[in-house]
Amino acid sequence: MGDEQMSTVSIITYHGLSLPKNEADENGYNIPVEDFERQIRWLKEKGYVNASFTSYLHDRRVTAEQGKKVLITFDDGEKSNFTHACPLLEQYGYLAVLFITTGIVQTNREFLSWHQVKQLSDRGHVIQSHGHTHRFLSSMEDEEIFCELRLSRDLIERYTGKRPEAFSCPGGRYDRRVMRIARELGYRKMFTSRPMSALFLQQGYAAGRTMIHQGMGDSAFAAGVRGDAWYLLSQNVTYMMKGIARSFVGENRYQQLFNMYHLWRSMGKK
Ligand SMILES: [Zn+2]
Repeated sequence: MGDEQMSTVSIITYHGLSLPKNEADENGYNIPVEDFERQIRWLKEKGYVNASFTSYLHDRRVTAEQGKKVLITFDDGEKSNFTHACPLLEQYGYLAVLFITTGIVQTNREFLSWHQVKQLSDRGHVIQSHGHTHRFLSSMEDEEIFCELRLSRDLIERYTGKRPEAFSCPGGRYDRRVMRIARELGYRKMFTSRPMSALFLQQGYAAGRTMIHQGMGDSAFAAGVRGDAWYLLSQNVTYMMKGIARSFVGENRYQQLFNMYHLWRSMGKK
């Protein structure tokens, strides 16, 4: 062939799923299970297949003939990953990449237990780190970043028997220090919440992802998966605006405003 080109692995990110009886959650990330199934069915109909996570981390180049690839990722480690999302993915022939917050595992019924994490791992789903406490890594001292990433890595290895090689950033926050320390600990890749084009996805240490939100229309979902230029542009503008807002009002105040806004929106829907 000799005609190798950058792979077009689409990386999409979910959090939890909300079940039919539940009202909309307050942060806008949990999507109804029927929307999730419609999106997964769309991936299947369009011919997307799972990218191998190991190949994604280790082989930079994938030939174009290998077709449309997707990584279906989940952040946080919500219980619905086990009860609904993964069983549904399995029905359609997909596996998930689960970035779990290890300090939250087993703490309450909204989150996975270690037994469930192990079961998902044994069924072929990939378990990776989302830190230990979900505090934003870029807001920590170097030593704390080191402890977060090492502890979560060690816990996942202890409970699944497999050492994670990647992490996703709580709140999507990172800086150069986070990347340097993660590399020192042997992490091969950092997954962000920033949408990037397929070309940039494969370059460097940070991998961009398309976040799937509550109420996202089918055409926006399709555009996000395909990485359509207009969609990436609009998402990057939103991403930058959030960054600017944070730098004006400060990280903590920004979080309060963010939560209030989504609470207000979810109340409006009832
Ligand atoms: Zn998170």
